[in-house]
Amino acid sequence: MVGDRAPLFSEWLMAPIRRNKWVYARVALAAAMISIFALVTSLFSMTVYDRVIPNNAMSSLTALAIGMGIVVIFDFVLKILRGYFVDVAGADVDSDIGDRVFDRILALRMEARQGSTGALSGLMRELESLRDFFASATLTAIVDVPFILLTIFLMWVIGGSIVIVPLIAVPVVILTAWLTNPALDRMSSQVLRHGLNKQSVLVEAIGGLEAVKVTGAANLLRRRWSVAVREHAGTALKQRLVSTIGVTVAGSVQTVAYAAIIVMGVSMIADSKMTMGGLIACSILSGRVLAPLAQIAQLLTRLNTTRVAYRALDEIMQQPTENEEGQGLRLTSLKGGIELRNLSFKYPGAQNKTLDGINITIQPGEKVALLGRVGSGKSTIARLVMGLYPADEGVVLLDGNAVRAHDLNHMRRYVGAVLQDTVLFTGSIRDNICLGRPWVDENEMIRAATVSGTHQFAGSLVNGYELQLADRGEGLSGGQRQSIAVARALAGKPPVLILDEPSSAMDPQTEGQLIAALQAEAADRTVLLITHHPSLLALVSRIILLDKGKVIADGPREAILKQLTRQPVKEAAPAQ
Ligand code: ATP
Ligand code: MG
Repeated sequence: MVGDRAPLFSEWLMAPIRRNKWVYARVALAAAMISIFALVTSLFSMTVYDRVIPNNAMSSLTALAIGMGIVVIFDFVLKILRGYFVDVAGADVDSDIGDRVFDRILALRMEARQGSTGALSGLMRELESLRDFFASATLTAIVDVPFILLTIFLMWVIGGSIVIVPLIAVPVVILTAWLTNPALDRMSSQVLRHGLNKQSVLVEAIGGLEAVKVTGAANLLRRRWSVAVREHAGTALKQRLVSTIGVTVAGSVQTVAYAAIIVMGVSMIADSKMTMGGLIACSILSGRVLAPLAQIAQLLTRLNTTRVAYRALDEIMQQPTENEEGQGLRLTSLKGGIELRNLSFKYPGAQNKTLDGINITIQPGEKVALLGRVGSGKSTIARLVMGLYPADEGVVLLDGNAVRAHDLNHMRRYVGAVLQDTVLFTGSIRDNICLGRPWVDENEMIRAATVSGTHQFAGSLVNGYELQLADRGEGLSGGQRQSIAVARALAGKPPVLILDEPSSAMDPQTEGQLIAALQAEAADRTVLLITHHPSLLALVSRIILLDKGKVIADGPREAILKQLTRQPVKEAAPAQ
């Protein structure tokens, strides 16, 4: 074996299987014993027909029957154990792989994310088919393969030339499986792809049900759904038809082989080349040869589905992730200096540069507003500062260290961020403010909630902070949700605050209270504020104007505001 050959399966799949290797070894042992017991049955029949019946040896029959009884009991126990062990190993492999894949998805780099949310979630469902495979008793059919050879050998010992029947039958079954395999493989991929299409329409429709109704998108989605369903059903049907060929051929070959053995056997008995018992034993043995083959034909279909699912999942697992846990800088404090040095950036797949040669230096504790027209690249700058995307050219520095050199999960503790689109999670208001950050205690939560205005309405709710929110914060108004998002950013007093339209959903009075509270709150912290609301500018001392991904003005607040009133944002040269 070549030492550096790429392994057949990736580590994420092999590790849990290796961990369960002793359980699988027990499964194999049980399956092997069960196969041997099956051979014993044929020898029992042969002895009865050849020795007991001609001699009327009733005492031997009793002994044989008792022996057979013991075999049956052992067989029964072993089959139960085999099933149990397969389930135990399967459950363990399933939960382990599930965790690994989910972790990987959480760590997936934004720029590496492909396909729709629905397709990605559909892929997770494919884990089921991996689990089914590793937790199925059919897997034990593999153990039966070496016993096929042993059984054929036994037939040769008992029946001599009758062995020709399985020697022809076995290759026929294998050949059919081998011939249908490429088509099955192709169809499994198609079935998967069409299944994912279905899932992505479904997720999009359910996720935005309210908008679907209001905007009349139902017809569009219905059309997409019915196309996806029809395609999926069509390919699934073809796949089943092809896989039926393999299984049916195996079944028919089994019947033909049985009949051939009887026919051959009778003429051999007539020539006194075989006994009656020998014929019975051979016909039982031929069943033992072909039954596992039929199972293997079935297993092959499943193997294809599993392999396709594996490949699709492996693709995700091989995607680059944000730095692995424990890699990168883990600073214990951050002063909050931000520098964008000659920064250019283009979204994956986009034509034009979103950011083009940006140079901005923000001192620790400085408060800066980013202004600019819709689509000028303000939120993109915020994303790059948080390390969500890598810069194409230039670098984003945090306290003089490249953002991407930090352990990003660790770094984001020091950056409180309110994103433009407020997303809350299923759970209580408290969960949503603390979000599993143990250093945010009850006092800190209330403090942050008071600054953001959450406390003012949470106090008047029946359940207060325990109010349970559904997906994405359903159950609260838009402004209330935004106020929780602000509280979440402030909790734990991170030294850097990135606020992307933090008051866009608030009324002027609430906004005014927020501004007043933030002024004290942000006193010694770095603030990067993105807004279209002039009133929020009271928070900052410096304004940077962006247009088409370029900085077109940068200076003290008053000077820039004066410039803005004189001539509203003038056009920058078109981005490359
Ligand atoms: P707004 O004031 O509307 O929030 P913005 O200045 O925050 O605008 P950005 O969100 O930074 O604008 O977007 C800048 C440009 O990048 C836009 O032209 C937009 O089309 C593009 N863009 C934004 N997000 C993506 C994305 N995920 N993939 C591709 N292009 C994107
Ligand atoms: Mg924006």
